Amino acid sequence: MKHVHGPHIFHSDDEEVWRFVSRFSQFETFDFKVNAQRGERLYPLPINLDTLRLFFGKDFTAAEAEDHVRTCTVQLAYPPRNFEEQALSTVGPKLYEAFFKGYTQKQWGRDPKEIPASVFRRLPLRFSQDRTYFHHSRVGMPRDGYTQMISRILDHPSISVEFNSTFKRSSDQREFSHIFYTGELDAFFEYEFGLLPYRSLRFEDFRVDGDFQASPTVNFPDVGIPYTRITEHKKFAPWENHDRSLCSREYSFECGPGDTPYYPVNLAGGSALLDSYRQAANNVAGVSFIGRLATFRYLDMDVAISEAMGASSTFLETVQSGGTMPAFPHAQA
Ligand code: UDP
Repeated sequence: MKHVHGPHIFHSDDEEVWRFVSRFSQFETFDFKVNAQRGERLYPLPINLDTLRLFFGKDFTAAEAEDHVRTCTVQLAYPPRNFEEQALSTVGPKLYEAFFKGYTQKQWGRDPKEIPASVFRRLPLRFSQDRTYFHHSRVGMPRDGYTQMISRILDHPSISVEFNSTFKRSSDQREFSHIFYTGELDAFFEYEFGLLPYRSLRFEDFRVDGDFQASPTVNFPDVGIPYTRITEHKKFAPWENHDRSLCSREYSFECGPGDTPYYPVNLAGGSALLDSYRQAANNVAGVSFIGRLATFRYLDMDVAISEAMGASSTFLETVQSGGTMPAFPHAQA
């Protein structure tokens, strides 16, 4: 199985979301492992006691490691305003520069000072040997892949899918009593106020005999290496048997016309452009904006699904009560 759009691991504490996705796919429990490669050396991620021992070359106990990291951190007199300040105040300059600064520059194409602090807070820091990547009640992979899962979701008499058809606000809004829009927010308005920044990804595939790397994903924080990470696909489907191995180097770039948007680029301090689009969306009747691209938020798959389920319940309640469906239903939750 190949993760055509980069590695996707389904991790969630939300039982309702698990019940929903499990109707459409069998899930295999998955123990996601990630390493960061600096030079020839591999460091386990997320940063944990073993990473700290290797990096600082000391046989720390958990308490010593915690003390050491605390002495390295930069004390701020105010809450961190951006990715860099969050990193410096959590792990200090050495670890920031080794594991986060370069990766973040490559991933977002911006100085980490421009990226919100919340992006750093996606990553745990542990003073134990626990290198479990996601601390959720369940972590799994759809056994037959996401394509199969999505096509089973869409296989319903009330659902029809049209390919190669660009959303056109003027005609589509006339045709439907309500639209749940999941495309790019700026595209809905035909870029009226300018382009919102999204990042796209490019994958460079290569094959080797046997195995290529020690973990399904290896991250490359060094800015001198142009890609962010390498995915070894067969390690995401350990129940499959393959003698050879397909791998993909992942490159991030600014999304332009015709590219596939993967990540909305939220900026520390907010964006007047984004505010204009959100305001315009709030003034459109008969349309709800959901998902990562349309709400312009860094949502994980489970959150996107949970919000979509919430939006459909809100819609049914609204229809019954004769009320007005909000443009951004998640904000009402
Ligand atoms: N990040 C980093 N170094 C890493 C991994 C992640 O600096 O080795 C930063 C980077 O800014 C990234 C963010 O943390 O965009 C979130 O990482 P995550 O692994 O959640 O990214 P995703 O898998 O969603 O691309």
